[in-house]
Amino acid sequence: MSIWYPYTQAKTSPLPLKVKSAQGVWLELEGGHRILDAISSWWVTLHGHGEPTIAQAIYDQAQRLEQVIFAGFTHDPAEALADRLLQALPQPLSRVFFSDNGSTAVEVALKMAYQYWRNQGQKRPRFLALEGAYHGDTFGAMAVGARSLFSEAFGDLLWSVDFVPVPATYRGDDQVEAKEAQCLQTLRHRLEQQPHTYAALIVEPLVQGAGGMVMMRSSFLEQLVTLCQSFDVLVIFDEVMTGFGRTGEIFACLGLSVVPDLICLSKGITGGFLPMSVTVAQEKIYQAFYSDDPLKTLYHGHSYTANPLGCAAALASWDLLMATRPKLQEFEAQHWTHLAPLMAYPQVEQLRVTGTIAAFNLKTDRPGYLNTLSLQIRQAAIQAGVLLRPLGHVVYLMPPYGITWDELAWVYRVINTLLQDL
Ligand SMILES: *Cc1c(COP(=O)(O)O)cnc(C)c1O
Repeated sequence: MSIWYPYTQAKTSPLPLKVKSAQGVWLELEGGHRILDAISSWWVTLHGHGEPTIAQAIYDQAQRLEQVIFAGFTHDPAEALADRLLQALPQPLSRVFFSDNGSTAVEVALKMAYQYWRNQGQKRPRFLALEGAYHGDTFGAMAVGARSLFSEAFGDLLWSVDFVPVPATYRGDDQVEAKEAQCLQTLRHRLEQQPHTYAALIVEPLVQGAGGMVMMRSSFLEQLVTLCQSFDVLVIFDEVMTGFGRTGEIFACLGLSVVPDLICLSKGITGGFLPMSVTVAQEKIYQAFYSDDPLKTLYHGHSYTANPLGCAAALASWDLLMATRPKLQEFEAQHWTHLAPLMAYPQVEQLRVTGTIAAFNLKTDRPGYLNTLSLQIRQAAIQAGVLLRPLGHVVYLMPPYGITWDELAWVYRVINTLLQDL
């Protein structure tokens, strides 16, 4: 075998399954076995696979302009996409910087935040983040993410970050206020102890994805942001996963009374067709770089920055998203109908839903990624015709929006069977 697969220990892992084609929520494997993609192929497939309008938009764009250098040049698809995003995002977010994946969108935000202060003659060498956070696999993104099995090998190389606890909550949680208070108190303490030290806090709003679909209340998030901003610390929302409708709102920040200084978007941006991302900054950040001094420039870019095909896909996906808005509001109720009864299984705990995302934990004395339950469930689910990929002991669903309520009910029936056999 010639391919080195991501997150995969080749020696102990089963061979990868070959996918021949995909349509809507269904993947078709070599040999004809069909599986329902209940995790949107790592959270990118927004509407469904093979969406004809997105495919057509890419084809049309490819015939006009497939790619062009994005320094000293610009093009319509990039301008149209930037306009569209800015119309939907809260007002002070006004400048769109393109890159090509979630990790680079985070790197760009971190660089912008750090240099924002430097350009104003301040040295703010530290960042704040939440425990359990995941922001990507490049070095800066790893540094602001939780130290884990995944970053273990590189621990010595990661710059030190101050983490504050995350008040993970779920249905029936009677400790949530206490956890939130403790988190806010830790943050306040750090901010008071070291004022003017922190460039920014980075947070995945409402749902921490890779950390285990950890959910937090919006009132908490509002207090977190307000606290940082009252100490003049920038706030970065990493909406790489939560963006484009996952939480029920088009962006998680739209359901909040606060506005981040920077926001990172990727994954669902092109509907899952092409790699693309943006970092959107408030005007005050842009203005701190706007200067006659070459040293104040943001020296960052990627070869495929604002690739026209990606922009065309994103525009077509955006139109579909607007048409899907009413359905997004129905996901929570649909999930709860099928999720709530799972509490009857003794091994199930911490049911939670935010928008289109549902999750629960399996009780285990070995939580985490090395838990063998994950592989066991993954394989049984594939047999039964569903693509699930538990995050350690956390089972979750994040289906493409095109899933029908009958299909969703069927996925939960499969989960019931898996739990019975566990
Ligand atoms: C997936 C993810 C990233 C990294 O995105 P990549 O495109 O995989 O580099 C960053 N932040 C969050 C919240 C993510 O879910």
